[in-house]
Amino acid sequence: MDALKQKILNEGTALSDKVLKVDKFLNHQIDPELMVEIGREFYRLFKDQNITKILTLESSGIAPSVMTALNFKIPVVFARKRKSLTHTDRLYTAPVYSYTKQETNIISVSDQFISQDDKVLIIDDFLANGEAANALISLVDQAEAEVIGIGIVIEKSFQPGRDMLEEKNYRVESLARIESLAAGEIVFKEDQN
Ligand code: 5GP
Repeated sequence: MDALKQKILNEGTALSDKVLKVDKFLNHQIDPELMVEIGREFYRLFKDQNITKILTLESSGIAPSVMTALNFKIPVVFARKRKSLTHTDRLYTAPVYSYTKQETNIISVSDQFISQDDKVLIIDDFLANGEAANALISLVDQAEAEVIGIGIVIEKSFQPGRDMLEEKNYRVESLARIESLAAGEIVFKEDQN
């Protein structure tokens, strides 16, 4: 997605050869117009799949997910990283090791919001090692619902997340794929659409 790639080049920073900072439009400040475009693109990619629900992880997955869900006219469910006092329902839970925070959180979703007949599109801001995606898949599995695909805003293709998910036969669609962040330079993978 050209607008996203341009934004990454203009406003992203390679903090190291592994971590990309995109606080100016995705992870802290949010660019709503870009989110609208991201929503349209995920819709274009998955519109024929009868998706009934989008599942994401708080907090940075929420903005692109809501914009996508608006196109599908379906709800978004976000898995929580912390237990809330109002969370009194039965929960599906899964551990997820956070790549950027270097800590393990138990993420959870109420059993009210994913059910057996749901066809779920998982959306997240980044794909690195696939830990977050795996945990979200586990929540869908626990609900005995179906994962239709995984939509990623920024994939770091030099890390193993995509291969791991594809080996398990999941469809992964990433709107920007980064081949390298070495020496502070952001290089995209050429074979993307
Ligand atoms: P994974 O679970 O695939 O290893 O990592 C994905 C999660 O870690 C995403 O939800 C994202 O929040 C965070 N993450 C991983 N790599 C980066 C990165 O380079 N930059 C930012 N901002 N977040 C990242």
